[in-house]
Amino acid sequence: MDITSGTRKIIVAIDGPAASGKSTTARLLARKLGYTYIDTGAMYRAVTLKALEAGLLEHLRDNPDDVTSLLEDIDITFEGERVLLDGRDVTAAVRENRVSRHVSFVSSLKPVRDKLKQMQREMGKRRGVVMDGRDIGTVVFPDAELKVFLVADASERSRRRYVELVQKSGGSNNVPPVEELEQEILQRDRSDAGRAHAPLRKHQDAVEVDTSGLTIDEQVALVYNLALEKTAV
Ligand code: C5P
Repeated sequence: MDITSGTRKIIVAIDGPAASGKSTTARLLARKLGYTYIDTGAMYRAVTLKALEAGLLEHLRDNPDDVTSLLEDIDITFEGERVLLDGRDVTAAVRENRVSRHVSFVSSLKPVRDKLKQMQREMGKRRGVVMDGRDIGTVVFPDAELKVFLVADASERSRRRYVELVQKSGGSNNVPPVEELEQEILQRDRSDAGRAHAPLRKHQDAVEVDTSGLTIDEQVALVYNLALEKTAV
């Protein structure tokens, strides 16, 4: 359903720690609103993939400024729910564990953040977007009409990530145990919240939603109702 006619188009910023339900909520919310969904985590993952493929990752740990060479002509676009890196569909590749392991490091680099912030502002300038990430409400669109901060228990988050990986790989064979996923998630949260540039923070105006005990339908309905209040003129 498109509720946008006769109402104003807003920006919905959804932030929160890893596996808190951001992308599922944001994707379904965008469909209900007739808005564009922008998964900014996928953009940081695309830069990380580019660094891995260029064999630059270890080099960057000692020479972080050299990341600018990767950013000069990088092209990241969305086609529906697919993400394209330099014209190539990398939707599945950016979810691989090798990318997850390095993405917090790559996203801590200031040139990367500056470049992606500029791209994200461009993508949202006509409004009518649901954007999810770590710094959307605090840094990218502090004027977003609706800011949501999703949280969930660490055990619930690692359980969800486990189920997602099992579903994607068609079995539990190559999926790390849930305890290992929980450690990875907690480690990523520590890096994301502790970094110098655009750390993960809840904006003071953001509505905090704990998704631990909620079904997907419930969390989408909750955020959808918040959005309807903001789109009504
Ligand atoms: O949301 P997702 O887990 O795909 O994000 C991957 C990583 O990208 C996060 O752990 C974080 O390091 C980084 N990120 C970020 N700022 C955003 C979105 C993601 O730093 N707005």
